[in-house]
Amino acid sequence: MIDLHIHTTCSDGQFSPAQTIQMAAQAEITVASITDHDTTSGIAEAQEAACQCGIELIPGIEISVQGGRELHILGYGISPKHPALQLFCRENAENRIRRRERMLEYLLQQGAEITLDDVRFCNDGRTTGRPHFARTLVAKGYADSVQDAFDRYLTTPEFYKYVERPKPSPEKGLRVIQEAGGVAVLAHPYQLQLESDAMAVLLEKLIAYGLQGIEAYYSRHTPAQTEAYLRLARRYHLFVTCGSDFHGPAIKPDITLGTGINGNLGIRDTSIPERLKQAIAAANKCI
Ligand code: AMP
Ligand code: FE
Ligand code: FE
Ligand code: ZN
Repeated sequence: MIDLHIHTTCSDGQFSPAQTIQMAAQAEITVASITDHDTTSGIAEAQEAACQCGIELIPGIEISVQGGRELHILGYGISPKHPALQLFCRENAENRIRRRERMLEYLLQQGAEITLDDVRFCNDGRTTGRPHFARTLVAKGYADSVQDAFDRYLTTPEFYKYVERPKPSPEKGLRVIQEAGGVAVLAHPYQLQLESDAMAVLLEKLIAYGLQGIEAYYSRHTPAQTEAYLRLARRYHLFVTCGSDFHGPAIKPDITLGTGINGNLGIRDTSIPERLKQAIAAANKCI
């Protein structure tokens, strides 16, 4: 099985990179990518575990950019320590730290009194994402579930107006992936909630900045959405990828490694990673 979209404790996932790779091996995953949000810090540990488990690991990252709405771009085949990518990750980490302070103030205004020490129960301190706050709100009794915490506090207009962090432009995000030797793929396109014409306009813009692939196979896509993204991939000569977006049951309880939701993923088509690897090789070929 193939799963090219997985999170660990290096961003907002529940399990360490080594644990996650061991779980992937148990799930009979043969090709995996760890795609933590705005960081490559888990790749070395994941790579070591992958060698021991006989899993092929493609280095990955998922970056958030702001292009009218929030877009997530997956970068595959990146050199984790590339200086431009490291600088990009550091800037995003600093913006997350600044957001943390605004978040605590905002939650207090909403009547939810939590501290950074409270958040640490589910966070190793490397980055703090909204899911860490969501889990803390549940643990402290301010929400019934992670989803409830997102609905009540973390996706409100006030959150986006007063708390949310600034994000880089799509152009900048795609450029840094390419500079670091990677290829860029649009993550979970369904989340953009765009009609097909608007999606085509967006894809054309992203392709002009270097987008090469689209995550047509994704846990939360309906069969009709998958078909629509496969059609767009053909139309724009994009390659397709598949990913569960596994974060662990404490964060996304319905999503299982490799198999997605109720077994709707379970991709075994090895031409998907082969095509991706060809694109990575081409991106790194000296001309
Ligand atoms: P951040 O990058 O810290 O703003 O957090 C964004 C992350 O929160 C996403 O990548 C998801 O992992 C998670 N997330 C976003 N919306 C929801 C939601 N409605 N329910 C659960 N998790 C969510
Ligand atoms: Fe996440
Ligand atoms: Fe995402
Ligand atoms: Zn993700």
